[in-house]
Amino acid sequence: MRGFTDKMAEEKSKYTKRADGRKFDELRKVEAKVGIIPEADGSAMYKSGDTIAIASVFGPRTLHPQHMQNPETGILRVNYDMMSFSVYERKRPGPNRRSQEISKVTEWALAPCVDLSEFPNSVVDVFIEIPQADAGTRVAGINAAAMALAHAGIPMKELASAVAVGKLDKTIVVDLSKEEEDFEEGEGATDIPVCFLSRSKKLSLLQLDGKISTEELNKAIELGKKACEEINKIQTKALKEIKE
Ligand code: UDP
Repeated sequence: MRGFTDKMAEEKSKYTKRADGRKFDELRKVEAKVGIIPEADGSAMYKSGDTIAIASVFGPRTLHPQHMQNPETGILRVNYDMMSFSVYERKRPGPNRRSQEISKVTEWALAPCVDLSEFPNSVVDVFIEIPQADAGTRVAGINAAAMALAHAGIPMKELASAVAVGKLDKTIVVDLSKEEEDFEEGEGATDIPVCFLSRSKKLSLLQLDGKISTEELNKAIELGKKACEEINKIQTKALKEIKE
């Protein structure tokens, strides 16, 4: 049950209604499809509103250069890239600090899902491309990549599902659009991407851009967890629909 202070905070918030009419805990329209790139060992698309992520998986294959190899296990390597035409103001092509950061946190979010111990000295490459971006691209990329890894037949302990939760002034909302991410009134916007693992229920990604109290953060994580359970069902359904 929500406490009195909780209610007061919501009443006073300057963000009372979502621009696209969604409920505060409602995801954007989601589409998920597995097996979209025939040349890849595994591939998937995850679309959330106007954000689209495409993931392709190649491997396991021998890792070069040799000094990077681990004789005890294979490794996961993620490369995230936003296409130059994906946003309104053209993005400079090629890697940058943001894409390097997102590649790394995506790798960490997905690593606990896979078991690469059968593939020493090898690498599983995951390429995430964003042809269209309207916020939440890192979480859409994780969702697509988790499906693509399963599609590639990589041994998996569990699936990863991710969503960006946010605080707009004092209101906690799920799956922010870019318009929401740019909200500036009151306390402004806090963006909190989270990733939950399906079996262990562990958090494998938690980032925070903005300000939030511990109480609000706990509420945001709880909402994120519920949204991730919903996303997991969508991913599982898409994986069951593979025709080959
Ligand atoms: N964005 C942009 N140009 C850039 C990087 C990001 O227009 O060079 C937009 C894009 O819509 C992206 C959003 O800003 O989805 C939020 O970016 P952020 O770094 O917070 O990561 P994301 O929410 O996409 O995971």
